Order: sequence, then C-alpha cells, then structure tokens
Amino acid sequence: MNLGSGITVLLSEQEIAERVDALAQEISSVMEPDMVCVSLLRGSFVFTADLIRALSRCMVMPRVDFMMMSSYGEGVVSSGVVQVLHDLQEPVEGRNVLLIDDILESGRTLALAHELMLAKGALDVKAAVLLEKPGKLVEEYTPDFVGFSIPDHFVVGYGLDYAGKYRELPFIGVMEGF
Ligand code: 5GP
Ligand code: MG
Repeated sequence: MNLGSGITVLLSEQEIAERVDALAQEISSVMEPDMVCVSLLRGSFVFTADLIRALSRCMVMPRVDFMMMSSYGEGVVSSGVVQVLHDLQEPVEGRNVLLIDDILESGRTLALAHELMLAKGALDVKAAVLLEKPGKLVEEYTPDFVGFSIPDHFVVGYGLDYAGKYRELPFIGVMEGF
C-alpha cells in the first residue's frame, strides 16, 4: 500500500503485533524471568513498550532501563564511532540483561552495548532486535531474538525516524528513493 506520502507499508501493525507476541514467548522460554530490559533509545521505545507488555502476558516481570547511543554511520565518520549519550540509571551487576534495539545494521551499536553490559558486571546478556538487514554487519554480532529480516531499504515508523519524523506511524514503512 502506498500512502501517498512516499512511504510504502512493509510490515503492518498486525504483523508486528503477532511477531512481538511470538518473540516474547521465545524470550520467556529461554531467559530467567528476573531480567532487566535495556532499551536502546530512541528508535526502540515503541518496540520496547509492546515487548514488555507481551512479556507480562508470558508471566515475565522485567525491570526496564534505557540507554541512548549515537552512531555515526559510514560516510560520516569512517571509524564508525558509537557514543553513549545517556547511561543506565540502575546497576546490572549480577543480572540477566535483555538488550532491546529497533534494527541491527552494522552491528556497532549492539556490539558496544553488549560489551558495556558485561563491563558493568551483567551475568548474562542477550539481545532482541525487531529488524535486521542481513549482509550489512561490520561488527560481528548475532542477536538472540530477531523479529524480521528485511531487505536493505531505509525504513521508518514504529519508533524509527527519518530526520526526526515518522516515529508515530503504527507500521514499518519503506521510504521511497532510499
Ligand atoms: P548499527 O547496527 O549500524 O550500529 O545501528 C543500527 C542503528 O542505525 C539503528 O538502531 C537505527 O537507529 C539506525 N538505522 C539503521 N537502519 C535504519 C533504517 O532503515 N531506518 C532508520 N530509521 N534507522 C536505521
Ligand atoms: Mg537505534
């Protein structure tokens, strides 16, 4: 469906909801229920909100904390530096951590977040990503839980933005011309 705004629906609201429920079941069958969800802002806030409520339906009552990282992709700074702009508010020492991110592309963000959790003394670190773009990894990283593998398009909606816009869309859409 083309919405006339240059955005085409890739994953509908219902497809996302069903997949998020299935992910929560996978997560609850593999992880200890006393986990800390670490949501990587800003793109993953919508996914996180839905995932923690799906986890509650699986009898998991996670703690939730947030971290904001900025990445400078290829073409901007070749070293691909990732910075921590906002750090966790609670200790994760001795805890099981579930990193939650919107999309895995180069792998730099999650690789660094994973390293930081271990450095903070986390017992076990797993990662859930809603989307992954296969074949784009620069940093070796294998997420434990993946919602959807998508083709290499620039996507928006469901928390993901383009220049600060479109985060509010309830579906994942593809920006034309990208
Ligand atoms: P990486 O895995 O490259 O370190 O970082 C992935 C991050 O880049 C995501 O968390 C997201 O913020 C951004 N990103 C990658 N691909 C897309 C995309 O298709 N659309 C949007 N809106 N952001 C993306
Ligand atoms: Mg992000």
